[in-house]
Amino acid sequence: MESVYAIPLHNRFRGITVREGVLLHGPAGWGEFCPFADYSDAESAPWLAAAVEASEVGWPEPVRDRVEVNTTVPVVSPERAYELVAASGCRTAKVKVADPRSSLADDCDRVAAVRDALGPSGAIRIDANTAWDVDTAVKSIRELDRAADRLEYAEQPCPSIEDLAAVRRRVDVRIAADESIRRAEDPLKVAVADAADVAVIKVAPLGGVRRALEVAEACGLPCVVSSAVETSVGLAAGLALAGALPALDFACGLGTRSLLTGDVTSEELSPVDGYLPVLRTAPTPDRFDEFAAPEETRKHWQARLTRIQAL
Ligand SMILES: [Mg+2]
Repeated sequence: MESVYAIPLHNRFRGITVREGVLLHGPAGWGEFCPFADYSDAESAPWLAAAVEASEVGWPEPVRDRVEVNTTVPVVSPERAYELVAASGCRTAKVKVADPRSSLADDCDRVAAVRDALGPSGAIRIDANTAWDVDTAVKSIRELDRAADRLEYAEQPCPSIEDLAAVRRRVDVRIAADESIRRAEDPLKVAVADAADVAVIKVAPLGGVRRALEVAEACGLPCVVSSAVETSVGLAAGLALAGALPALDFACGLGTRSLLTGDVTSEELSPVDGYLPVLRTAPTPDRFDEFAAPEETRKHWQARLTRIQAL
């Protein structure tokens, strides 16, 4: 059984305005399959493995029942950033930076507004999503660190692991690897240990909760579990991972429900006082119907699913 959804986003996020995906149902519950539109079938295969694990197999037992999360600040005005953070209840904020529509000065203003909203005890992390070269990263991270009155870490400033390592040697701010961490391979530990202080791990691109736990162990770094901007069905898989990690030293990036204008379930995984519970969710029919994808979108996803199942 499968159901295709299409949910508009409040703000454009990594080039998209509507989040689409497929919910799969099986004996273990519900899974979510939602690789981004520009992902190839091969890149999307682990996303399907993660959805199949959720619906067919289930997840390991958690060792904690709640997870602290950060709020995410998209490319918005400083005033809007302040409001979003103040309303979130979170003690940690992740600010998207280095977007083509935003200058470094804009990013600094936004980060400073986030500091005002969080107060001195809050934590601010930035995510550049591979946008910078080494020199730009060093300059930008230093300026943003000043504007933020201390950054917790800077996530994936450059595309390659070598460049992350080069930036890490030149700045005082911790570096987090996100896009660099995609496979559970032995060399990962050595490569990432030199290039990053924190590993961002995501269930779907790593092929499921169990595979992601292996990657966490292989990289040997403190981990932050992040979402891929899923509905609450997919967020539950991230919470299962965060709940099962032996150690969890940083707030996770699972507070992303509010980036979507709606959800497929009435059991929404929205943070309360900066925490999310570790629990599963299922779509509820009336909520799902509101976001059921139009015919053309449904056909597109069914074809995509069929191709990837055949790989
Ligand atoms: Mg990231």
